[in-house]
Amino acid sequence: MKELNVLINNARLEKRLDEMAKEIEKDYKGKEIVFIGILKGSVPFMWELAKRIKNNIIFEFIEVSSYINNESSGKVILHKDIKSSIEGKDVIIVEDIVDTGKTLDFLLKHLEEKNAKSVKIATLLSKPSRRVIELNVDYIGFKIDDKYVVGFGLDDNQNLRNLPYIGYYE
Ligand code: 5GP
Repeated sequence: MKELNVLINNARLEKRLDEMAKEIEKDYKGKEIVFIGILKGSVPFMWELAKRIKNNIIFEFIEVSSYINNESSGKVILHKDIKSSIEGKDVIIVEDIVDTGKTLDFLLKHLEEKNAKSVKIATLLSKPSRRVIELNVDYIGFKIDDKYVVGFGLDDNQNLRNLPYIGYYE
């Protein structure tokens, strides 16, 4: 039996979410922001971050996949695009975890032609040691080692997304 360990407990997540929200409020000073959440893993993070921010936030979602059976296939496929125009808008792409960087590299290129005023990236987790494509990630919740993590949106073959903490298998 695989044993699940706690990597980041809920109290630490909440504290860091408060800090990230403050940072974003300071950077956007009352401006409207479009959050583009990457389905499905970003959903809890997007909501927990957004509810702490006083700015008006528009929710958009995009769906891509690159992981098959907990392994990165390296090929990013777009399943669902955003519906509304983001032309002239301030956008933050909201991601659960940046691993190789391929998903965000693909999405940055995909969104380029939509002419947003600005595009930044917020991620709950980052695994810098796994990066294949260097990216400028503007808001990072926690940098973690190379472990497969689950919970707070992150899945184990579609399971465990609803855990209120970040866990890992030894
Ligand atoms: P990247 O394109 O940066 O390699 O991978 C990004 C995507 O891979 C994330 O959105 C996430 O779906 C998946 N991923 C990468 N590392 C992990 C991990 O440790 N746990 C889970 N559950 N998904 C991961």
